[in-house]
Amino acid sequence: MRRASPVALRYLAPVTPLEDAQAFVLESCPTLGAVEVDREKAGGLVLASPVIAAEVVPPFDNTAVDGYAVRSQDVSNAPVELRVVAELAAGAAPSVPVGAGEAIRIMTGAPIPEGADAVVMVEDSERVGDHDVRLIRSVPSGAAIRRAGDDVCIGDELFAAGTTITPAVAAVLASVNAAHLHVHRQARVAVLSTGDELIDDGSPLAIGQIRESNKTMLAALLADAGCEVVDLGVVRDDEAELERVLRAAAVDCDAIVSSGGVSMGDHDVVKAVLGRIADMTWMQIAIKPAKPFAFGRLGGTPIFGLPGNPVSSLVSFELLARPALRRMMGHRRLTRTSIVAVTDVPFDRQPDGKVHFVRVNGELRDDGRYHVRPVSAQGSHQLAATALADAMAVMPDGTGLPAGADVAALLLRGDA
Ligand code: AMP
Ligand code: MG
Repeated sequence: MRRASPVALRYLAPVTPLEDAQAFVLESCPTLGAVEVDREKAGGLVLASPVIAAEVVPPFDNTAVDGYAVRSQDVSNAPVELRVVAELAAGAAPSVPVGAGEAIRIMTGAPIPEGADAVVMVEDSERVGDHDVRLIRSVPSGAAIRRAGDDVCIGDELFAAGTTITPAVAAVLASVNAAHLHVHRQARVAVLSTGDELIDDGSPLAIGQIRESNKTMLAALLADAGCEVVDLGVVRDDEAELERVLRAAAVDCDAIVSSGGVSMGDHDVVKAVLGRIADMTWMQIAIKPAKPFAFGRLGGTPIFGLPGNPVSSLVSFELLARPALRRMMGHRRLTRTSIVAVTDVPFDRQPDGKVHFVRVNGELRDDGRYHVRPVSAQGSHQLAATALADAMAVMPDGTGLPAGADVAALLLRGDA
């Protein structure tokens, strides 16, 4: 490997507790500014200001069922026969009122005609000849009527700042005609892998070479976190090239995620270049896997230097990069869901001053508890086993846990 000239590296502390590293990173990643976007492009983004309803939902009293709009007093002695005077589909305006002894055939969503105060569902009716209907059940006043404004009233604070625009939130916004939304900007994030050994074009591997895999994973994790991904590919261990790529990305993007070259004592080009052009802090975090981690800024743009070992890269992204990137996009919940699980087998470990993030498979059992057991291989290069994990069990320093013990588990999917 081409060696770069060693640079003086700033370490946060000989070993940094995870919480300190997380706080340090979060502090350096403020929320991005707000912009106005069309609702159709706002999915997954976070509201920067509250949305106040400017329209009422439903906009008019309407029927919740297909059936017959009636005067409830006319059906109080059901079964009863009424004259059907009109038919009303959703989207149509009533043209005649419902008088005494009359009914209007009505479809779900159609406005309640004048005179009617209830709807008898079609299942409780039989047509009699061409003009009449027999209603077999009495209904109270108001039956099957959805009142104007019983979902949303004008002036309601529909959604507070900080609300994520989920599919259902977007639908509610559509229902009140909120076409343009004030949201935090989506983070545009560059992702790159570094290393002369990495092959990403499908060509045969020479001795010493491996297939690039981290960038594939990180790009997908970034997209899953709601970021816009700018794929910078594999950058060779070449100082000039790496510097050019990083400087361009710092101008073009809101953050940079790079994998490889941050290990302790590793005076390779990543360290040399970042140490020279960016304001970096190099950390040894008291966790396993994913001990080495670097964070800094290049011209104000945050750079996450993740370790190259694939499992470490994943864990490092989950614990340090993802929460910070979500903060940048205005999210209030930054971490994955943490639950109290139960160990299904003994979780053995040795004291080493680190918190271990053991990748586990989990299952919700009849006892209502989430039972976890380690995936079959826990090496930081063994991504195949970790790829199928559901969660990471958080094992504090010590000698481990017996089967049946409570253990905190960080789910690897979802953000609740
Ligand atoms: P590094 O952090 O660069 O010292 O790399 C640590 C280990 O991870 C080495 O075995 C690398 O070959 C491997 N590695 C680094 N980057 C990648 C990558 N993008 N995809 C797969 N493995 C990688
Ligand atoms: Mg490397």
